[in-house]
Amino acid sequence: MPTLIRVDQTYEIPDRLPVVALRDLVYFPYMVLPLLIGRPPSLAALEAAEQGEGYLLLLAQENVQVEDPSKDDLHRVGVVAQVLEVSRLPDGNARVVLEGIGRCKVRRFLKSEAGFAATVEPFVARERADGRESKEDEALARGVLRLFHEYVHLCDRVPDDVVSSVSLESDRLRSAHLVAGHLLVLPSEKQELLESPDLPLYYGLLREILVRELEILRIEEKLDDQIRLQLDSDHRQSYLQEQLKAIHHELGADPKDEWSDLAAEVVSASLPPHARERAERELNRLEKLNPIAPEAAVIRTYLDWILGLPWTERREDNLQVEHASAILDEAHYGLDEVKDRILDHIAVLSLVGELNGPILCLVGAPGVGKTSLGRSIALALGREFVRVSLGGIRDEAEIRGHRRTYVGALPGRVLQGMRRSGTTNPVFLLDEIDKLARDFHGDPGAALLEVLDPEQNKTFTDHYLELEYDLSDVLFVATANTLAGIPGPLRDRMEIIRLPGYLDTEKLVIALRFLWPHQAMRHGLPTDVDLSEGAAKAIIRRYTREAGVRELDRRISRVARKLARRTADRVRTTVDDEAATADIHATMIDAGAPAADAGTATGDKSSSEAQSVGEDDLKALLGPPLYLGRSMDEDERSGMAIGLAWTEAGGEVLDVEVAVVPGSGQVQLTGTLGDVMKESAFAAVTYARSRATRLGLDPKFHQDVDIHIHIPEGATPKDGPSAGITIATALISALTKTPTRADVAMTGEITLRGRVLAVGGLKEKAVAALREGLSKVLLPMANAAELELMPKEVIAGLNFVPVRTMDEVLTEALTSMPEARRSYSESGSSVGTHLSQ
Ligand code: ADP
Repeated sequence: MPTLIRVDQTYEIPDRLPVVALRDLVYFPYMVLPLLIGRPPSLAALEAAEQGEGYLLLLAQENVQVEDPSKDDLHRVGVVAQVLEVSRLPDGNARVVLEGIGRCKVRRFLKSEAGFAATVEPFVARERADGRESKEDEALARGVLRLFHEYVHLCDRVPDDVVSSVSLESDRLRSAHLVAGHLLVLPSEKQELLESPDLPLYYGLLREILVRELEILRIEEKLDDQIRLQLDSDHRQSYLQEQLKAIHHELGADPKDEWSDLAAEVVSASLPPHARERAERELNRLEKLNPIAPEAAVIRTYLDWILGLPWTERREDNLQVEHASAILDEAHYGLDEVKDRILDHIAVLSLVGELNGPILCLVGAPGVGKTSLGRSIALALGREFVRVSLGGIRDEAEIRGHRRTYVGALPGRVLQGMRRSGTTNPVFLLDEIDKLARDFHGDPGAALLEVLDPEQNKTFTDHYLELEYDLSDVLFVATANTLAGIPGPLRDRMEIIRLPGYLDTEKLVIALRFLWPHQAMRHGLPTDVDLSEGAAKAIIRRYTREAGVRELDRRISRVARKLARRTADRVRTTVDDEAATADIHATMIDAGAPAADAGTATGDKSSSEAQSVGEDDLKALLGPPLYLGRSMDEDERSGMAIGLAWTEAGGEVLDVEVAVVPGSGQVQLTGTLGDVMKESAFAAVTYARSRATRLGLDPKFHQDVDIHIHIPEGATPKDGPSAGITIATALISALTKTPTRADVAMTGEITLRGRVLAVGGLKEKAVAALREGLSKVLLPMANAAELELMPKEVIAGLNFVPVRTMDEVLTEALTSMPEARRSYSESGSSVGTHLSQ
């Protein structure tokens, strides 16, 4: 087993090695270089090396012209190389990275199935300069290094940092190999260098070559100067390109081949002139680079982006309003006002041909259908649909991209969306526009403003692409949960359409007509398996609590999934038992209910009405109900009051509970109370103290009790103060032990003196009250004008009572008014600072 000794390591190599013939390249020990292998015998040798110990013998061809060399065309001295990396290319070639280990001589060429193999012996004992150097040798070596320095300086094609690695090298043989490896001379000359038997001869030859090359380079430089003056820049470029081609050729790879597919794509892509020009420029740059250079990957990605973006492909609009109306109705129940406004937009589009007006912004709780409306708009117009979520974006670069100098840079979400859509005129849904954040990375809102502005979006520029991109054909639609989060300037550009949430009656229709059929189909249930009205109502009331129908959809999907699963299990068992062919419907019915807990779905398997999931089946399918509704029992209603809150998730009913226990005047707040809500709580306590006598309370009541105010967990209300009158009502109910009415809800801010102030989100709150089956809503007098804007069903279903003062609230909310005490003055002045937080 031959041994190759290097400066850094000793290698035991097999004495029989697969051979790769090098056409116009000579490898040297210590050299690490990529090589493109394409000839079948060489590929076979590579395979043999991979299967063996990873060593190859690299032998240069004597004549570079020979395409299919025989052993006689090869030099007998070559370099044993270790395969460091192999990547197979789609065209069948392989790109390998090899490290030269040491020089070897061929003893005998061997016959091998495909390609060559040879037995070898070391050419020199060691690839390092052992022994002492004479003064002459040292002078020679130093001289060569100086010449090499000058050579690199003059020859643009050798990278400058080679000089430093050569001058840092202390081993003379290794530095000779480094110098030889970097010389741009004929392969035959390099082979001569490779075959230098000792150091003085090696350096002598190097000096000879360097002196000659330097002379040529100097003449070239002179010529170049003259030529440079003569040639205009175009010519110069092609001259340089020719030179580069030669270098690549020298290195064994022609990057042009590598990128030929890409070049063909650039030629055939339909690009506007400015994008084409840029693509061609980048392609030119790419063709000059070594394919494995990192820069090449960056340019390649960039070109992929230019080619991947839609520049001209567009969908023809279908602008018939009746057609659009039918499509919107097909997927959405109700929402008449919203649909009307959308159709108005489409009508304008059909008349004017473009939309210069405000962007539609659908505002409402999750699950009210904002996204699916967006999708339907696209379907109606015959356009593509893309959705981009803006939630949590705080960096402008997420909208507009990172500059290419940034590692891993990509275009922003707008262009990413455009690429996904594949067309220049999609319906583009900007989801959760109210969740945009802002910080020191710039203002993403400002970037969006440019996207949405018809004056500016014709020439939208992404930092990554650095090319103007026309967004003016895009139909943008925005969505938000609340108006409050939308930055002012953006809001000014938008036409707000509010979706207040669904009433139970609407949810029922949506569940039966839309959600169930869809989920049943998705889960492969037979078409005649129904969800009964009773079950749908029960899911709505007892398994969900939301303004939209997202949770409802999830529960319904779960019912469908369980049914499908049980059906599958049953069918499998039946088949296993080799019983009669399973009647899938009968199985279905059986699956619809637990065996012991017979409901409508169990019963007679053959009866057709049994094909529906009944209310009683829900427990088995969905588990115990999650919401049981509030207690209607009067005894339990002391200290309870029903408030209405406005949260991210739409309107919600808020059950406030107050307990009064013996104590020392402490007020405790638990549950989801924000700071604002705390203020309301203290205002309520102060109000109660100031009205103590009127309410039949001992004016010093607060000294001997602790007051515990609890608002159950749930979404945090956006409008804290509006719980003021609810807290006060619950408190007074608890103190006076007077129950509250179970069907009265309220919303309003309270002042210390008991006045009721205006609040926001009335529409959503009213819908929530109706949903919860309440019948009366107390609202601030200052909000009364908004009743005009309430949906008809809400006005019909609820009794609205505008109030000015807490007294009016108590009259409506308590089952009876507490009797006033006569023996005390009304003054609350003695109530001091004892009540503390
Ligand atoms: P959002 O975007 O407002 O959060 P989605 O559009 O995702 O809500 O709606 C959730 C689900 O409810 C979707 O499956 C949607 O089709 C359905 N949905 C919502 N509103 C309606 C409606 N009015 N009619 C029929 N289905 C609806």
